[in-house]
Amino acid sequence: MPISKITGDRNQANLPQDLERYCHYAKELGADEARVVAASEIPVEDAVSFKCRVPQCYAYNNCGQCPPHAPKPDEIRQLMKGYSFGVLFVRRVSSALLKLNRSDKERMATFRSILEIVSKLESAAFYDGHYLAVGFGAGSCYSSLCDPKQGCRLLKGEACRFPLKARPSMEAVGLDVYRLIVSSGWEIYPYGSDAKPEDIPVANLAGLVLIQ
Ligand code: SF4
Repeated sequence: MPISKITGDRNQANLPQDLERYCHYAKELGADEARVVAASEIPVEDAVSFKCRVPQCYAYNNCGQCPPHAPKPDEIRQLMKGYSFGVLFVRRVSSALLKLNRSDKERMATFRSILEIVSKLESAAFYDGHYLAVGFGAGSCYSSLCDPKQGCRLLKGEACRFPLKARPSMEAVGLDVYRLIVSSGWEIYPYGSDAKPEDIPVANLAGLVLIQ
């Protein structure tokens, strides 16, 4: 598809059909569900990112895209004011997969696939003239893209190893993923460290790209 010329309104005229096209694209790339979401219906809660700190996640303070280095919920609330619509998607995964060790190749590849969908949607929107498109993934790039043994390069003051793919997770910036999935009519269960996979029918990994 030819690259669209930049317009002052960020290609507003094509936005409705582009949003629908990105939903189809997300599914082509491996998402099970995708929908257009109004920025006004995306819940941002301080308590969501607080839960990266209490109880403390393995990636807390170890990754440039995770708290306390990720954008704060207040910044995201401000950011959200500049957007009208995004594309939300989920990939359904076996609940047993989330119990695997973080270094398990299949687990890493599954989390990485969410960042890859986010990256491709963000890039498609950028080249369609929605040049402020920005995405959020699931989990931490510290374990899905990088090797934790090598540490995060951003936190050493160096360039990120995967700048086009590393994005903060939705939860890291305070986006209430559970509520968004429920309000989308999709199925989701509480999945804590004590959960037994056999009690959880399905697990979801979600991504969001704010388009315009
Ligand atoms: S991809 Fe690696 S270097 Fe980049 S922010 Fe994530 S952990 Fe840090």
